[in-house]
Amino acid sequence: MAKVQKINGIRGMNDILPADEPIWTEFEEVCKDALRMYGYKQIRTPILEATPLFKRGIGEVTDIVEKEMYCFTDSLNGEELALRPENTAGVVRSVIEHNLTYNAPQRLWYFGPMFRHERPQRGRYRQFHQLGVEALGFKGPDVDVEQILMARRIFDELNILPLKLELNSLGNLEERREHRQALITYFEAHQDVLDEDAKRRLYSNPLRILDTKNPDMQALVEGAPRLLDYLKNDSLAFLNRLEHLLSVNDIEYKINPRLVRGLDYYNHTVYEWITDKLGAQATVCGGGRYDPLVEMLGGRPTPGVGFAMGVERVLEVMREFGFESNEPDTEMYILHMGGETQGYAMVLGEILRDAGYDVIVHAGEASFKSQMKKADQSGATFAFICGEEEVTHSQVTIKRLFGDPSERFMKQETLDLNEAIQYFVDVQKEFLDEE
Ligand code: ATP
Ligand code: MG
Repeated sequence: MAKVQKINGIRGMNDILPADEPIWTEFEEVCKDALRMYGYKQIRTPILEATPLFKRGIGEVTDIVEKEMYCFTDSLNGEELALRPENTAGVVRSVIEHNLTYNAPQRLWYFGPMFRHERPQRGRYRQFHQLGVEALGFKGPDVDVEQILMARRIFDELNILPLKLELNSLGNLEERREHRQALITYFEAHQDVLDEDAKRRLYSNPLRILDTKNPDMQALVEGAPRLLDYLKNDSLAFLNRLEHLLSVNDIEYKINPRLVRGLDYYNHTVYEWITDKLGAQATVCGGGRYDPLVEMLGGRPTPGVGFAMGVERVLEVMREFGFESNEPDTEMYILHMGGETQGYAMVLGEILRDAGYDVIVHAGEASFKSQMKKADQSGATFAFICGEEEVTHSQVTIKRLFGDPSERFMKQETLDLNEAIQYFVDVQKEFLDEE
Protein backbone atom coordinates (compact mmCIF):
# COMPACT_ATOMS: atom_id res chain seq x y z
CA MET A 1 0.00 0.00 0.00
CA ALA A 2 1.22 3.51 -0.77
CA LYS A 3 2.25 5.46 2.30
CA VAL A 4 -0.80 7.19 3.73
CA GLN A 5 -0.33 10.77 4.82
CA LYS A 6 -1.20 11.31 8.47
CA ILE A 7 -3.61 14.01 9.55
CA ASN A 8 -2.60 16.15 12.50
CA GLY A 9 -4.71 17.99 15.05
CA ILE A 10 -5.44 21.69 14.57
CA ARG A 11 -2.81 24.22 15.66
CA GLY A 12 -3.54 25.65 19.09
CA MET A 13 -6.05 22.90 19.91
CA ASN A 14 -4.61 20.42 22.37
CA ASP A 15 -5.23 16.77 23.04
CA ILE A 16 -5.55 16.07 26.73
CA LEU A 17 -3.72 12.77 27.06
CA PRO A 18 -4.22 10.14 29.78
CA ALA A 19 -1.06 11.30 31.56
CA ASP A 20 -2.70 14.71 32.07
CA GLU A 21 -5.93 13.21 33.33
CA PRO A 22 -5.05 13.30 37.06
CA ILE A 23 -4.45 17.05 37.13
CA TRP A 24 -7.66 17.77 35.18
CA THR A 25 -9.62 15.48 37.46
CA GLU A 26 -8.16 17.13 40.55
CA PHE A 27 -9.12 20.55 39.18
CA GLU A 28 -12.65 19.48 38.29
CA GLU A 29 -13.31 17.75 41.60
CA VAL A 30 -12.00 20.63 43.69
CA CYS A 31 -14.16 23.07 41.72
CA LYS A 32 -17.30 20.92 41.90
CA ASP A 33 -16.99 20.57 45.66
CA ALA A 34 -16.35 24.26 46.20
CA LEU A 35 -19.17 25.38 43.91
CA ARG A 36 -21.66 23.10 45.63
CA MET A 37 -20.67 24.59 48.99
CA TYR A 38 -21.93 27.98 47.79
CA GLY A 39 -25.15 26.69 46.22
CA TYR A 40 -24.10 27.04 42.57
CA LYS A 41 -25.71 24.70 40.01
CA GLN A 42 -24.18 23.51 36.78
CA ILE A 43 -25.54 24.62 33.42
CA ARG A 44 -24.39 23.11 30.10
CA THR A 45 -25.05 25.13 26.98
CA PRO A 46 -24.05 24.29 23.39
CA ILE A 47 -20.62 25.07 22.00
CA LEU A 48 -22.22 26.63 18.90
CA GLU A 49 -24.43 29.69 19.16
CA ALA A 50 -25.82 32.17 16.66
CA THR A 51 -23.04 34.65 15.75
CA PRO A 52 -25.15 37.76 16.59
CA LEU A 53 -25.37 36.56 20.22
CA PHE A 54 -21.66 37.18 20.67
CA LYS A 55 -21.57 40.33 18.59
CA ARG A 56 -24.22 41.87 20.78
CA GLY A 57 -23.28 40.14 24.04
CA ILE A 58 -19.54 40.82 23.91
CA GLY A 59 -19.46 44.01 21.87
CA GLU A 60 -18.48 44.71 18.27
CA VAL A 61 -15.36 46.68 19.19
CA THR A 62 -13.56 44.04 21.25
CA ASP A 63 -10.56 41.82 20.48
CA ILE A 64 -12.78 38.78 20.61
CA VAL A 65 -15.39 39.90 18.10
CA GLU A 66 -13.01 41.87 15.90
CA LYS A 67 -10.41 39.19 15.38
CA GLU A 68 -10.70 36.06 17.49
CA MET A 69 -14.04 34.44 16.72
CA TYR A 70 -14.49 31.29 14.69
CA CYS A 71 -17.55 32.20 12.63
CA PHE A 72 -18.97 30.32 9.67
CA THR A 73 -22.06 29.97 7.60
CA ASP A 74 -23.72 26.58 7.96
CA SER A 75 -23.64 25.39 4.36
CA LEU A 76 -26.70 23.21 4.96
CA ASN A 77 -29.10 25.99 5.91
CA GLY A 78 -27.26 29.31 5.68
CA GLU A 79 -27.29 30.05 9.43
CA GLU A 80 -24.52 32.28 10.81
CA LEU A 81 -22.88 30.34 13.64
CA ALA A 82 -19.90 30.81 15.93
CA LEU A 83 -17.88 28.57 18.21
CA ARG A 84 -18.28 30.14 21.62
CA PRO A 85 -15.31 32.35 22.58
CA GLU A 86 -16.65 32.63 26.15
CA ASN A 87 -19.79 31.48 27.89
CA THR A 88 -21.45 34.38 29.66
CA ALA A 89 -23.46 35.26 26.56
CA GLY A 90 -24.54 31.62 26.11
CA VAL A 91 -25.59 31.24 29.73
CA VAL A 92 -27.54 34.49 29.68
CA ARG A 93 -29.22 33.47 26.43
CA SER A 94 -30.27 30.21 28.02
CA VAL A 95 -31.50 31.87 31.21
CA ILE A 96 -33.65 34.27 29.17
CA GLU A 97 -34.92 31.53 26.86
CA HIS A 98 -35.99 29.28 29.76
CA ASN A 99 -37.09 32.12 32.02
CA LEU A 100 -34.87 30.73 34.77
CA THR A 101 -34.93 33.85 36.92
CA TYR A 102 -38.74 34.04 36.86
CA ASN A 103 -39.20 32.78 40.43
CA ALA A 104 -35.82 33.17 42.03
CA PRO A 105 -32.35 34.45 41.28
CA GLN A 106 -29.90 31.88 39.95
CA ARG A 107 -26.41 30.84 40.95
CA LEU A 108 -24.89 28.96 38.00
CA TRP A 109 -21.56 27.49 36.91
CA TYR A 110 -20.19 25.97 33.73
CA PHE A 111 -17.09 24.20 32.55
CA GLY A 112 -16.00 23.52 28.99
CA PRO A 113 -14.01 24.42 25.90
CA MET A 114 -13.93 27.92 24.41
CA PHE A 115 -12.50 28.91 21.02
CA ARG A 116 -10.50 31.97 20.03
CA HIS A 117 -8.36 32.43 16.96
CA GLU A 118 -5.26 33.79 18.71
CA ARG A 119 -1.56 33.21 18.19
CA PRO A 120 -0.84 29.99 20.13
CA GLN A 121 1.78 30.27 22.88
CA ARG A 122 2.19 29.15 26.46
CA GLY A 123 -1.10 29.86 28.24
CA ARG A 124 -2.83 30.95 25.04
CA TYR A 125 -4.54 28.41 22.84
CA ARG A 126 -7.23 28.33 20.18
CA GLN A 127 -9.25 25.80 22.07
CA PHE A 128 -8.97 26.30 25.82
CA HIS A 129 -11.20 25.63 28.79
CA GLN A 130 -12.95 27.90 31.19
CA LEU A 131 -14.63 27.23 34.47
CA GLY A 132 -17.04 30.06 35.11
CA VAL A 133 -19.83 31.18 37.42
CA GLU A 134 -22.73 33.52 36.78
CA ALA A 135 -25.14 34.82 39.42
CA LEU A 136 -28.25 36.36 37.93
CA GLY A 137 -30.76 38.46 39.81
CA PHE A 138 -28.49 39.68 42.64
CA LYS A 139 -27.74 43.41 42.96
CA GLY A 140 -24.51 42.89 44.91
CA PRO A 141 -21.94 43.71 46.05
CA ASP A 142 -22.28 40.79 48.51
CA VAL A 143 -22.54 38.24 45.71
CA ASP A 144 -19.55 39.81 43.94
CA VAL A 145 -17.56 39.12 47.11
CA GLU A 146 -19.06 35.64 47.46
CA GLN A 147 -17.61 34.78 44.04
CA ILE A 148 -14.20 36.14 44.99
CA LEU A 149 -14.34 33.95 48.12
CA MET A 150 -15.27 30.95 45.95
CA ALA A 151 -12.30 31.53 43.68
CA ARG A 152 -10.03 31.90 46.69
CA ARG A 153 -11.32 28.63 48.13
CA ILE A 154 -10.70 26.86 44.82
CA PHE A 155 -7.16 28.30 44.52
CA ASP A 156 -6.47 27.38 48.12
CA GLU A 157 -7.64 23.79 47.64
CA LEU A 158 -5.49 23.54 44.52
CA ASN A 159 -2.48 24.82 46.51
CA ILE A 160 -1.73 27.72 44.19
CA LEU A 161 -2.08 30.61 46.61
CA PRO A 162 -0.94 33.32 46.92
CA LEU A 163 -2.31 34.98 43.80
CA LYS A 164 -2.68 38.72 43.38
CA LEU A 165 -6.17 40.17 43.18
CA GLU A 166 -6.52 43.42 41.22
CA LEU A 167 -9.76 45.29 41.37
CA ASN A 168 -11.42 48.28 39.77
CA SER A 169 -14.83 49.85 39.39
CA LEU A 170 -16.27 50.71 36.00
CA GLY A 171 -19.10 52.68 37.57
CA ASN A 172 -22.28 53.04 35.55
CA LEU A 173 -23.03 53.99 31.97
CA GLU A 174 -23.32 57.70 32.63
CA GLU A 175 -20.06 57.87 34.55
CA ARG A 176 -18.33 55.94 31.80
CA ARG A 177 -19.76 58.34 29.21
CA GLU A 178 -18.26 61.34 30.98
CA HIS A 179 -14.95 59.60 31.48
CA ARG A 180 -14.99 58.51 27.86
CA GLN A 181 -15.25 62.10 26.72
CA ALA A 182 -12.29 63.05 28.93
CA LEU A 183 -10.31 60.09 27.55
CA ILE A 184 -10.97 61.07 23.94
CA THR A 185 -9.87 64.64 24.63
CA TYR A 186 -6.71 63.37 26.36
CA PHE A 187 -5.77 60.87 23.63
CA GLU A 188 -6.58 63.35 20.84
CA ALA A 189 -3.93 65.60 22.33
CA HIS A 190 -1.40 62.74 22.06
CA GLN A 191 -2.28 61.34 18.62
CA ASP A 192 1.42 60.90 17.75
CA VAL A 193 1.91 58.26 20.47
CA LEU A 194 -1.16 56.18 19.59
CA ASP A 195 -0.64 52.88 17.76
CA GLU A 196 -2.94 51.56 15.03
CA ASP A 197 -5.27 49.72 17.44
CA ALA A 198 -5.56 52.78 19.64
CA LYS A 199 -6.29 55.10 16.71
CA ARG A 200 -8.98 52.76 15.53
CA ARG A 201 -10.53 52.64 19.00
CA LEU A 202 -10.19 56.31 19.81
CA TYR A 203 -13.83 57.04 19.02
CA SER A 204 -15.36 53.57 19.11
CA ASN A 205 -14.01 52.22 22.41
CA PRO A 206 -11.40 54.50 24.01
CA LEU A 207 -11.67 52.70 27.37
CA ARG A 208 -10.02 49.70 25.75
CA ILE A 209 -6.94 51.76 24.93
CA LEU A 210 -6.17 51.63 28.66
CA ASP A 211 -5.90 47.87 28.29
CA THR A 212 -3.07 48.09 25.73
CA LYS A 213 -0.07 45.80 26.03
CA ASN A 214 2.07 48.09 23.82
CA PRO A 215 5.11 49.18 25.91
CA ASP A 216 5.46 52.42 23.91
CA MET A 217 2.06 53.56 25.11
CA GLN A 218 2.44 52.73 28.82
CA ALA A 219 3.49 56.22 29.92
CA LEU A 220 0.63 57.78 27.99
CA VAL A 221 -1.86 55.38 29.48
CA GLU A 222 -0.51 55.93 33.02
CA GLY A 223 -1.31 59.62 32.72
CA ALA A 224 -4.83 59.15 31.31
CA PRO A 225 -7.92 60.32 33.23
CA ARG A 226 -9.01 57.67 35.75
CA LEU A 227 -12.53 56.35 35.66
CA LEU A 228 -12.38 56.11 39.46
CA ASP A 229 -12.30 59.89 39.61
CA TYR A 230 -15.60 60.06 37.73
CA LEU A 231 -17.60 57.82 40.09
CA LYS A 232 -20.52 59.49 41.86
CA ASN A 233 -22.20 58.63 45.16
CA ASP A 234 -23.99 55.40 44.25
CA SER A 235 -21.02 53.85 42.52
CA LEU A 236 -18.67 54.94 45.28
CA ALA A 237 -21.01 53.47 47.89
CA PHE A 238 -21.07 50.19 45.94
CA LEU A 239 -17.29 50.11 45.76
CA ASN A 240 -16.88 51.01 49.44
CA ARG A 241 -19.24 48.24 50.51
CA LEU A 242 -17.41 45.78 48.26
CA GLU A 243 -14.07 46.77 49.74
CA HIS A 244 -15.46 46.51 53.26
CA LEU A 245 -16.79 42.99 52.64
CA LEU A 246 -13.46 41.98 51.13
CA SER A 247 -11.52 43.20 54.11
CA VAL A 248 -13.77 41.56 56.73
CA ASN A 249 -13.14 38.35 54.80
CA ASP A 250 -9.38 38.87 54.82
CA ILE A 251 -9.08 39.17 51.07
CA GLU A 252 -6.07 41.19 50.02
CA TYR A 253 -6.43 43.19 46.83
CA LYS A 254 -5.03 46.14 45.00
CA ILE A 255 -7.05 48.79 43.20
CA ASN A 256 -5.81 49.01 39.61
CA PRO A 257 -7.44 52.05 37.95
CA ARG A 258 -6.34 50.80 34.52
CA LEU A 259 -8.07 47.47 34.78
CA VAL A 260 -10.95 47.56 32.27
CA ARG A 261 -11.27 43.94 31.03
CA GLY A 262 -11.96 42.96 27.47
CA LEU A 263 -15.71 42.89 27.36
CA ASP A 264 -18.06 45.81 26.83
CA TYR A 265 -20.87 45.00 29.17
CA TYR A 266 -19.20 45.24 32.57
CA ASN A 267 -20.23 47.79 35.20
CA HIS A 268 -19.15 48.42 38.80
CA THR A 269 -16.95 45.49 39.87
CA VAL A 270 -14.15 44.21 37.64
CA TYR A 271 -11.22 42.15 38.84
CA GLU A 272 -8.48 39.75 37.85
CA TRP A 273 -6.55 37.09 39.72
CA ILE A 274 -2.92 37.24 38.63
CA THR A 275 -0.01 34.86 39.05
CA ASP A 276 3.71 35.62 38.90
CA LYS A 277 4.47 32.08 37.69
CA LEU A 278 3.47 32.24 34.04
CA GLY A 279 5.22 35.21 32.45
CA ALA A 280 3.06 37.15 30.01
CA GLN A 281 -0.13 35.08 30.29
CA ALA A 282 -0.51 35.96 33.96
CA THR A 283 -4.26 36.35 34.43
CA VAL A 284 -5.79 33.08 35.59
CA CYS A 285 -9.28 34.39 36.29
CA GLY A 286 -11.26 37.48 35.38
CA GLY A 287 -14.61 38.56 36.69
CA GLY A 288 -17.05 41.31 37.22
CA ARG A 289 -20.55 42.68 37.14
CA TYR A 290 -22.60 43.00 33.97
CA ASP A 291 -25.98 44.42 34.99
CA PRO A 292 -26.96 45.71 31.49
CA LEU A 293 -26.34 42.43 29.66
CA VAL A 294 -29.60 40.55 30.22
CA GLU A 295 -31.63 43.46 28.90
CA MET A 296 -29.21 43.92 25.99
CA LEU A 297 -29.90 40.33 25.00
CA GLY A 298 -33.67 40.78 25.11
CA GLY A 299 -34.50 39.73 28.67
CA ARG A 300 -36.10 41.68 31.48
CA PRO A 301 -33.59 43.85 33.39
CA THR A 302 -31.72 41.47 35.68
CA PRO A 303 -28.40 42.18 37.37
CA GLY A 304 -25.55 39.74 36.80
CA VAL A 305 -22.08 39.02 38.07
CA GLY A 306 -19.59 36.27 37.27
CA PHE A 307 -16.07 35.15 36.64
CA ALA A 308 -14.24 32.93 34.15
CA MET A 309 -11.16 30.96 35.08
CA GLY A 310 -8.66 29.90 32.42
CA VAL A 311 -8.26 26.21 33.23
CA GLU A 312 -5.02 25.58 31.27
CA ARG A 313 -3.38 28.51 33.04
CA VAL A 314 -4.50 27.31 36.46
CA LEU A 315 -3.13 23.83 35.67
CA GLU A 316 0.19 25.39 34.63
CA VAL A 317 0.39 27.14 37.98
CA MET A 318 -0.44 23.85 39.76
CA ARG A 319 2.45 22.24 37.87
CA GLU A 320 4.73 25.13 38.84
CA PHE A 321 3.79 24.45 42.46
CA GLY A 322 4.77 20.81 41.94
CA PHE A 323 1.42 19.08 41.55
CA GLU A 324 1.91 15.35 41.62
CA SER A 325 -0.70 12.71 41.32
CA ASN A 326 -0.29 9.63 43.48
CA GLU A 327 -3.32 7.89 42.10
CA PRO A 328 -2.31 4.41 40.90
CA ASP A 329 -3.82 3.15 37.65
CA THR A 330 -5.55 0.30 39.41
CA GLU A 331 -5.84 -1.52 42.74
CA MET A 332 -5.44 -5.10 41.52
CA TYR A 333 -3.81 -6.90 38.67
CA ILE A 334 -4.83 -10.44 37.73
CA LEU A 335 -2.33 -12.79 36.12
CA HIS A 336 -3.19 -16.02 34.33
CA MET A 337 -1.51 -18.69 32.24
CA GLY A 338 -3.80 -18.65 29.21
CA GLY A 339 -6.27 -21.38 28.23
CA GLU A 340 -8.87 -22.13 30.93
CA THR A 341 -7.06 -19.95 33.45
CA GLN A 342 -7.88 -16.88 31.37
CA GLY A 343 -11.65 -17.38 31.65
CA TYR A 344 -11.22 -17.99 35.38
CA ALA A 345 -9.19 -14.77 35.70
CA MET A 346 -11.91 -12.80 33.92
CA VAL A 347 -14.62 -14.23 36.20
CA LEU A 348 -12.50 -13.32 39.24
CA GLY A 349 -12.10 -9.82 37.80
CA GLU A 350 -15.89 -9.40 37.64
CA ILE A 351 -16.32 -10.67 41.22
CA LEU A 352 -13.78 -8.16 42.49
CA ARG A 353 -15.36 -5.32 40.48
CA ASP A 354 -18.77 -6.30 41.92
CA ALA A 355 -17.16 -5.70 45.31
CA GLY A 356 -16.14 -2.24 44.09
CA TYR A 357 -12.45 -2.66 43.28
CA ASP A 358 -10.50 -1.41 40.27
CA VAL A 359 -9.09 -4.42 38.50
CA ILE A 360 -6.99 -5.03 35.41
CA VAL A 361 -7.03 -8.58 34.03
CA HIS A 362 -3.93 -9.24 32.00
CA ALA A 363 -4.88 -9.25 28.32
CA GLY A 364 -3.25 -11.71 25.94
CA GLU A 365 -0.75 -14.33 26.94
CA ALA A 366 2.68 -13.65 28.39
CA SER A 367 5.27 -15.19 30.68
CA PHE A 368 4.72 -14.98 34.41
CA LYS A 369 7.69 -12.66 34.69
CA SER A 370 6.45 -10.18 32.13
CA GLN A 371 2.96 -10.20 33.66
CA MET A 372 4.45 -9.46 37.11
CA LYS A 373 6.29 -6.53 35.58
CA LYS A 374 3.03 -5.14 34.18
CA ALA A 375 1.40 -5.65 37.57
CA ASP A 376 4.18 -3.64 39.21
CA GLN A 377 3.92 -0.84 36.67
CA SER A 378 0.16 -0.61 37.12
CA GLY A 379 0.59 0.67 40.67
CA ALA A 380 -1.67 -2.13 41.96
CA THR A 381 -1.26 -3.05 45.61
CA PHE A 382 -2.13 -6.70 44.96
CA ALA A 383 -1.54 -9.25 42.24
CA PHE A 384 -3.92 -12.19 41.94
CA ILE A 385 -2.45 -15.23 40.26
CA CYS A 386 -4.62 -17.76 38.49
CA GLY A 387 -2.42 -20.69 37.49
CA GLU A 388 -3.51 -24.23 36.51
CA GLU A 389 -3.13 -25.38 40.10
CA GLU A 390 -5.30 -22.58 41.51
CA VAL A 391 -8.01 -23.08 38.89
CA THR A 392 -8.23 -26.81 39.58
CA HIS A 393 -8.90 -26.11 43.27
CA SER A 394 -11.03 -22.96 42.85
CA GLN A 395 -8.36 -20.94 44.54
CA VAL A 396 -6.22 -17.93 43.88
CA THR A 397 -2.74 -16.87 44.94
CA ILE A 398 -2.37 -13.35 46.25
CA LYS A 399 0.82 -11.34 46.27
CA ARG A 400 1.24 -8.06 48.03
CA LEU A 401 2.98 -5.57 45.84
CA PHE A 402 3.67 -3.00 48.54
CA GLY A 403 6.12 -2.83 51.42
CA ASP A 404 9.73 -3.92 51.40
CA PRO A 405 10.40 -5.43 47.94
CA SER A 406 12.61 -8.21 49.38
CA GLU A 407 9.80 -9.31 51.67
CA ARG A 408 6.72 -8.97 49.59
CA PHE A 409 7.00 -12.25 47.73
CA MET A 410 7.00 -13.94 51.12
CA LYS A 411 3.48 -12.68 51.63
CA GLN A 412 2.14 -15.02 49.01
CA GLU A 413 -0.93 -16.88 50.16
CA THR A 414 -3.24 -19.24 48.38
CA LEU A 415 -6.89 -19.07 49.35
CA ASP A 416 -10.22 -20.08 47.95
CA LEU A 417 -12.05 -17.33 46.12
CA ASN A 418 -14.39 -16.12 48.87
CA GLU A 419 -11.65 -16.24 51.43
CA ALA A 420 -9.39 -14.39 49.06
CA ILE A 421 -11.77 -11.48 48.74
CA GLN A 422 -12.29 -11.27 52.51
CA TYR A 423 -8.55 -11.51 53.00
CA PHE A 424 -8.06 -8.70 50.57
CA VAL A 425 -10.61 -6.49 52.32
CA ASP A 426 -8.93 -7.08 55.71
CA VAL A 427 -5.40 -6.55 54.51
CA GLN A 428 -6.29 -3.44 52.61
CA LYS A 429 -7.99 -1.99 55.66
CA GLU A 430 -4.92 -2.74 57.73
CA PHE A 431 -2.77 -1.18 55.04
CA LEU A 432 -4.86 1.98 54.93
CA ASP A 433 -4.90 2.23 58.75
CA GLU A 434 -1.12 2.07 58.76
CA GLU A 435 -0.92 4.99 56.35
P1 ATP B 1 -6.02 37.90 27.93
O1 ATP B 1 -5.85 39.33 28.36
O2 ATP B 1 -5.01 36.98 28.51
O3 ATP B 1 -6.22 37.75 26.46
P2 ATP B 1 -8.87 37.93 28.20
O4 ATP B 1 -9.20 39.21 28.83
O5 ATP B 1 -9.05 37.75 26.74
O6 ATP B 1 -7.40 37.44 28.63
P3 ATP B 1 -11.16 36.65 29.37
O7 ATP B 1 -11.98 36.79 28.16
O8 ATP B 1 -11.43 37.50 30.54
O9 ATP B 1 -9.62 36.76 28.98
O10 ATP B 1 -11.17 35.11 29.82
C1 ATP B 1 -10.99 34.71 31.19
C2 ATP B 1 -9.76 33.85 31.35
O11 ATP B 1 -9.69 32.83 30.36
C3 ATP B 1 -8.46 34.59 31.18
O12 ATP B 1 -8.10 35.26 32.35
C4 ATP B 1 -7.50 33.46 30.88
O13 ATP B 1 -7.10 32.82 32.07
C5 ATP B 1 -8.34 32.52 30.06
N1 ATP B 1 -8.07 32.69 28.62
C6 ATP B 1 -8.51 33.68 27.79
N2 ATP B 1 -8.09 33.47 26.54
C7 ATP B 1 -7.36 32.32 26.56
C8 ATP B 1 -6.65 31.56 25.56
N3 ATP B 1 -6.64 31.92 24.29
N4 ATP B 1 -5.99 30.43 25.95
C9 ATP B 1 -6.01 30.05 27.24
N5 ATP B 1 -6.66 30.71 28.22
C10 ATP B 1 -7.33 31.83 27.89
MG1 MG C 1 -7.78 37.86 25.11
